[in-house]
Amino acid sequence: MTEFGFIESIREAFAALPDNGFEGIGDDCAVLPVGGGESLVFTADMLAEGVHFLRAATSPAELGRKSLAVNLSDVAAMGARPVATLLSLSLPADATDAWATEFMRGYRELSEQYGVTLAGGDTTRSASLIAINVTAIGRAPSAHLKRRGDARPGDAIFAAGELGGSGAGLRDMLAGRCDTPSAALHRNPVPQVAEGIWLGERPEVHAMMDLSDGLASDLGHILDRSGVGAELDLDRIPVAPGADLRTAACAGEDYKLLLTAAAELADRLSADFRARFGTPLYPVGRIVPAPGLVWLRDGRPVPLDWHGFTHY
Ligand code: ADP
Ligand code: MG
Repeated sequence: MTEFGFIESIREAFAALPDNGFEGIGDDCAVLPVGGGESLVFTADMLAEGVHFLRAATSPAELGRKSLAVNLSDVAAMGARPVATLLSLSLPADATDAWATEFMRGYRELSEQYGVTLAGGDTTRSASLIAINVTAIGRAPSAHLKRRGDARPGDAIFAAGELGGSGAGLRDMLAGRCDTPSAALHRNPVPQVAEGIWLGERPEVHAMMDLSDGLASDLGHILDRSGVGAELDLDRIPVAPGADLRTAACAGEDYKLLLTAAAELADRLSADFRARFGTPLYPVGRIVPAPGLVWLRDGRPVPLDWHGFTHY
C-alpha cells in the first residue's frame, strides 16, 4: 500500500466516528472552529533518522529548526498563525546530552523567531535511531482559512517562491558536498509564515497548500480534492539556483506555498504580494475543468511522466 492509500484507508475506517466539530483528515491541518469566528488548526509531522535526515550530515541545531519549520509551513498553508507546538523526542543512547541540547537550541531559536509557545510533548528512549514528532497548533479567523479543495476552473496557479533548491541540496549532500548553498537550504527550510497569513486575508486566494513532496505530486492533492485539473507551463516554473527544471517540478521539501487565485484578480494579488514581500508570486499554470495534469511547453502539451519525491 502507498502512503496515500494507507491514509485514505484510515480516513474511510474512521469516517463514521463522531467528528466532535473537527474538519479532519485530508488537508495540511485539521480545523476546529472555536467560536467568535475563529478556528484552531492542528498538524503533526514526523522526522525519522535514516529516512528524513542522516545524523552525520545534519547538525542537531539545524534539525531542531527544521523539525519546527516543516510544521509551521503546514500551519501557514492554511492561512493561519502558528501559536504553539508539542514536541516528542525518541532518543537512542548515542544521541548525547550535547546533541539534545543543541537540537533544543535550534528548536528554541525558531520558536522565538515566530513567537510560538512550546506547550508540551514527550521524551522517550529509543533502541537505535532518533525520531522527532512535532504537533503544531495555529489560529485564524475561520473566513481566512484556505483549503486544498477550493480551486476553481479558470484560477491562476502560483508558487510563492523558487522551486528545486532543496532537492538540489539533497543531491549535493548525497554526493558528499554538504557545504553548497543548496545543501544549506535543504537543511534550513524557511516556512512562509507571514506570507501564509497574508494570503489567508485575501479572498481571491481559493486553494492553498505547502510544497513538501514536489509540485507534480502536491498539485495533484489540490486537483483531487477540488475535482478539477490543471495545465502547468514548463517555461514558467521558477527554478532555484543550483536546480534544474525537473528537480524544480518534482523534488520535495521546498516548503513554498502553492495557491490558486481568481484569474481576474491575479495580477493585483501578485503586485501586492511583491510590494509586501519584495519577491514575486510565480504564475505556473491554470486550473481547468477536466481532471488530470497537463504539462505545456510553448503552450503545447508535452507527454511527461513526472512525479513527486521519494526520500533517501
Ligand atoms: P502534509 O504533507 O501536508 O503534512 P500529508 O501528506 O503528510 O500532509 O498527510 C495528508 C493528510 O493525511 C493530512 O490531513 C494528515 O493529517 C493526514 N494523515 C497522515 N497520516 C495520518 C495518520 N497516520 N493518521 C491520520 N491522519 C493522517
Ligand atoms: Mg503540507
